[in-house]
Amino acid sequence: ETKEQMIMELDLEPLRLPSDNVRPVVIAGPCSAETEEQVMSTARSLADKGCHIFRAGIWKPRTKPGGFEGNGETALPWMKEVKEETGMLISTEVATPEHVELALKYGMDILWIGARTSANPFAMQALADTLQGMDIPVLVKNPVNPDLELWIGALQRLNQAGLKRLGVIHRGFSSYEKKIYRNVPMWQIPIELRRRIPGLPIICDPSHIGGRRDLIAPLCQQAMDLGFDGLIVESHCNPEKAWSDAKQQVTPDILDYILSLLVVRDHTS
Ligand code: PEP
Ligand code: MN
Repeated sequence: ETKEQMIMELDLEPLRLPSDNVRPVVIAGPCSAETEEQVMSTARSLADKGCHIFRAGIWKPRTKPGGFEGNGETALPWMKEVKEETGMLISTEVATPEHVELALKYGMDILWIGARTSANPFAMQALADTLQGMDIPVLVKNPVNPDLELWIGALQRLNQAGLKRLGVIHRGFSSYEKKIYRNVPMWQIPIELRRRIPGLPIICDPSHIGGRRDLIAPLCQQAMDLGFDGLIVESHCNPEKAWSDAKQQVTPDILDYILSLLVVRDHTS
């Protein structure tokens, strides 16, 4: 075995994320927190369907200038309201130490690190330094480029800063050729990551892999067939009118239907 292929010892603790035991861990919510009404209406529907963890982007990394870049701190009280009214845990993407500070100030329960940030060692180290010694679950999306070592390195930086409740999100990899997928899944990479770091929870993001509503269901099932631990799915009360990622979001009703059809086997035995 070469050094690169060796099993890694990360000092991990269970994520302890809520799920209903019938379904995998599901994190759902809009790509972006657009307005208080959109956040609350989506959150209420998701909570009614039994969702335990809400997501929404507060700071949005857009490819080009001029797009909706998120509401920033303005949207954080809406997230707090979701938590207080529905009891769901709340989660968002953080890319800078300032994001972390603000997210924690408003009671964020789970943080995730986006694909553009996990590809950047300086940004990752700055986040790790800010999160030093905190007991908060952090989910690390794969880097935009298919670089397993970079993904592992991001996890190591957080773990060396004392973060033990770590998980990863597989959101596919950027490529110049756009065929079916927005980001090609290259399932072998998260599977190899699971081999390299046993016990690391893996969550699939079918929304950013597929980039299309009609691919959400088959991608969710594929993740379950591969023994993934959970799903993070973009869900919006009015997907066609979404301010970002409109093509890939599904209503809470459709998400509930998709989840109800999943066949989930026990991979532990
Ligand atoms: C997101 O989850 O809204 C997001 C921006 O994802 P990614 O970092 O995977 O592109
Ligand atoms: Mn999105």
